[in-house]
Amino acid sequence: MNRSRRRFLAGLGVLGAWAAAGCAPLARGARVVVIGGGYGGATAAKYVRLLAPDIRVYLVDPSEVYLSCPGSNDVLAGLAELSSLERSRDGLSRRWGVELVRDAVAAVDGAKRQVRLQSGASLAYDRLVVSPGIDFRWNAIPGYDEAASQNIPHAWKAGPQTLLLRDQLRAMPEDGLVVLTAPANPYRCPPGPYERASLVAHYLQRHKPRAKLLILDAKSAFSKQALFQEAWRRHYPGRLEWLPYTRTGQIERIDAASRTVHCEFETFRADVLNVIPPQQAGAVARQAGLADAGGWCPVHPDSFASTLLPDIHVIGDACSASPMPKSAFAAGSQAKACAVAVVASLQGRPAPSPTLINTCYSFVTPDEAVSVAGVYKPKDGQLTTASGGETPLDADWREEARYAHGWREAAKDDSFR
Ligand SMILES: Cc1cc2nc3c(=O)[nH]c(=O)nc-3n(C[C@H](O)[C@H](O)[C@H](O)COP(=O)(O)OP(=O)(O)OC[C@H]3O[C@@H](n4cnc5c(N)ncnc54)[C@H](O)[C@@H]3O)c2cc1C
Repeated sequence: MNRSRRRFLAGLGVLGAWAAAGCAPLARGARVVVIGGGYGGATAAKYVRLLAPDIRVYLVDPSEVYLSCPGSNDVLAGLAELSSLERSRDGLSRRWGVELVRDAVAAVDGAKRQVRLQSGASLAYDRLVVSPGIDFRWNAIPGYDEAASQNIPHAWKAGPQTLLLRDQLRAMPEDGLVVLTAPANPYRCPPGPYERASLVAHYLQRHKPRAKLLILDAKSAFSKQALFQEAWRRHYPGRLEWLPYTRTGQIERIDAASRTVHCEFETFRADVLNVIPPQQAGAVARQAGLADAGGWCPVHPDSFASTLLPDIHVIGDACSASPMPKSAFAAGSQAKACAVAVVASLQGRPAPSPTLINTCYSFVTPDEAVSVAGVYKPKDGQLTTASGGETPLDADWREEARYAHGWREAAKDDSFR
């Protein structure tokens, strides 16, 4: 290991102590395949190479450029362009020697330890890391399927859906009604619907002065609730209303043609309807047999190894890592713990027990943000919260916004550079 690599590792906290323990002989020629080049997979691929340059790492993803969901609510609110969400993976190949495979994994053959690609080719692995993100449970809300999402966007994966919702907001009448439905837990980015509602309310304030926004929630409580509600009281009084399911009842069906949401006790007809549907682990993980009946992938929290199949690890939104939320920050933290465990197992030595971290920042206006942070440790086969906290109500929320911007840039570098 050269000096600069060692110095870099020593600065990485969780990785530092492990790296300093000295390297056992590497499993030369070992192959790690990573499915999914988002925040989880890209980070895992990079850190395996950083820890063990003799291991070959293949990062498989069909997209040429990754589009980040963090920042996508800014695009909806007209505060940024879609191009600001682009993350090239070229640096992973140039700097770290990750082998980029632009293809989708069609199937995992755990017995043969290989993945079959959509192009027909196969890739053999010694360890497989699976980070495909989420898929939607189409029709879990009757009337909301993939076809309906072409008219009623979810915008819960960044890209054309983000632009569709942005353009619908731009085109709606000045006194129109925006309805956003938020799903029950667990789902990608617990505070995301409420950041979205805040920034859309800010957009309406400037461009559609008589318009309103309603959140129809499948929950009766949500992440950073007191902070969001204080922000809405301060900035969007009378414009943004949150309706828990205890008030409206469950959503019974959606009529996509008329943009109508039929709840048990009330019916809402929207000018712009944004449905954030119930979710599950990405299809490739479920088809591989990595998910349980709940649709998410159970893992050992010290290594993120699947509890269902050998030599396969699952990280990011697809895995069950409660009480960690499904966030890009969490995916990056899990990816590093997973990379340490994968390298250790290929070197035939035990991995240290990790400490995992998460901070979820949410913008409530373009220049004010709030956050929730947690530190997590494995205990008796489960992850437990070791400590945590939220932005105080009387803190400087502008300072939090500066930290939030700083985190976005740092995550971009950490995962993709
Ligand atoms: C509106 C919004 C705002 C958010 N804001 C924040 C925030 O501020 N902070 C934060 O921490 N998190 C935020 N998140 C959450 C964050 O986006 C996710 O938690 C994060 O992207 C999860 O990373 P991942 O690697 O699990 O999945 P993803 O980032 O979705 O990456 C999955 C990748 O797998 C690929 N893939 C899927 N199937 C296959 C296959 N069969 N073969 C090959 N590749 C495949 C996909 O192409 C994709 O590139 C936000 C989410 C949303 C929707």
